[in-house]
Amino acid sequence: MTETKSTIHSGGCLCGQVRFQARNLGPALSFCHCRQCLKTHGNFAAYARLSPDNLLFERQEGLSWYASSAQAKRGFCRNCGASLFWAPTQGGHISVSAGCLDQPTGLTPETHIFVASKGDYYRLDDGLPCYLEYADGPRCDPQGLPLDTGCTGRTGRSGRGE
Ligand SMILES: [Zn+2]
Ligand SMILES: [Zn+2]
Repeated sequence: MTETKSTIHSGGCLCGQVRFQARNLGPALSFCHCRQCLKTHGNFAAYARLSPDNLLFERQEGLSWYASSAQAKRGFCRNCGASLFWAPTQGGHISVSAGCLDQPTGLTPETHIFVASKGDYYRLDDGLPCYLEYADGPRCDPQGLPLDTGCTGRTGRSGRGE
């Protein structure tokens, strides 16, 4: 259509009081296992990123932002409770919850982040790289144990059935 091959995703909350279009989202998707995502999403989160300029709202009367830390805020619908966005306070990008997007998303899972604080009630066995915290930091195994110890005679899975 235009000169650049941009993609457009549509999405929104459960009740429809937040609807948006996301241009050039992802296509990489990361699963975040931090305590805050576990709390606000009810489970780990699936996020894809875009530039704030590329997020256009069709409806946003339900949208509220919660300052979840000094570094970040979380966008949610105050009517239905949907967890929609995560954004660093200083700007730069916005992460969009993949589950709020209309299907098909065409997104590709690439990483698990903040695995050190993952819930103990599920296992990560999809083979994607795991990180203790952010993906520019140290790697870990799917149980959240550091991999960068230099001499690992055993892996974290010893003692398990597999
Ligand atoms: Zn809603
Ligand atoms: Zn998180």
